[in-house]
Amino acid sequence: MTDTHTGGDVRLAGISKTYGSFTAVHPLDLTVPEGSFFALLGASGCGKTTTLRMIAGLEEPTTGAVLLGDRDVTGLPPHKRPVNTVFQSYALFPHLDVHENVAFGLRRRGVRSVKRQVEEMLDLVQLGDRARHRPHQLSGGQQQRVAVARALINHPRVLLLDEPLGALDLKLRRRMQLELKRIQTEVGITFVHVTHDQEEAMTMADTVAVMNAGRVEQLGAPAELYDNPRTTFVANFLGTSNLIEAEVAESGADVVVTAGGGALRLPAARCSAPARPGGRLLVGIRPEKIALAHADDADAIPAGRNRVTGRVTDASFIGVSTQYAVDGPAGTGLQVYEQNVERDPRLVPGAEVVLHWNPAHTFGLDAAQDAE
Ligand code: ATP
Repeated sequence: MTDTHTGGDVRLAGISKTYGSFTAVHPLDLTVPEGSFFALLGASGCGKTTTLRMIAGLEEPTTGAVLLGDRDVTGLPPHKRPVNTVFQSYALFPHLDVHENVAFGLRRRGVRSVKRQVEEMLDLVQLGDRARHRPHQLSGGQQQRVAVARALINHPRVLLLDEPLGALDLKLRRRMQLELKRIQTEVGITFVHVTHDQEEAMTMADTVAVMNAGRVEQLGAPAELYDNPRTTFVANFLGTSNLIEAEVAESGADVVVTAGGGALRLPAARCSAPARPGGRLLVGIRPEKIALAHADDADAIPAGRNRVTGRVTDASFIGVSTQYAVDGPAGTGLQVYEQNVERDPRLVPGAEVVLHWNPAHTFGLDAAQDAE
């Protein structure tokens, strides 16, 4: 890297990538704020790696520009950008020890005294005691941390991470997620992280861009995406959602819809599709936001709650919660996760129940979208 002075946000201005007649990334505008931990999340083939590679300079955009701060870096080769990448295959040099792997970038730039800087980096990734080990003597998680230290030693402004935890087992992955988050907070530079794992993106990132078929479907803080998904793809990709087909009866600050004969209410601000009387909406509610009452106790449900009736088809106790499957309006399969409540022994398969929840937690989606 020759230029380490360009700070600021990463801005993608209309970048796209086509291969022949296939569009891997449709024209994309997005800003990654400086110093943030940003995740590109999506299923295999959605275009997230291609987007990352365009930021790195490893792939030339078909249209558009990549800007770092005010500087257009679109035409610069990778090593001229203040950006470095950590890949899933750590690509460590097997014949060099940890210290020399990390020192490599400095030595290549002709830096003579590297010892202090390398030691600082190894402390950052908590591998100070492994400096003289070769990569094959390290665990997967340790190798990954060496790769991160090696990528950070030249003080890039942006670190790109392409499924960096993909080769690790689940337990180690979880540990490394927290570890990477700690490192990012400590160094304070922008991290752009590519993953197909929604839990990983939500654990680590300040902002998540959910990609589907070459487009960003929604961008926001993890809690915002989870609580207020704007498309069926996002609703289903991030956790489990219950989607009920409904007809709009009234619109205003609150929208009233009917489903299976009953009325449901939701804030108009949480509808991502126009709610016109007579039109259709998909009404969504997360499983843990729903409470379940036996039909005999329906009178005790407080007024003002949304409610639908159904029949329990399955009840599974999984320790921290009990998960119920319920046949809801028009045969819609619904999921309910109840935590920390005394289990009602009557809520067994076959039981008639009422599902009820706070209308404020309800969201509305375009019924014409394909639910994936
Ligand atoms: P994964 O998680 O599997 O890596 P991804 O979301 O990162 O998936 P990309 O690698 O960005 O997906 O690929 C997006 C699409 O572009 C895929 O359908 C892929 O087959 C296609 N693609 C990628 N590189 C090329 C190429 N060099 N030539 C033709 N098509 C390509």
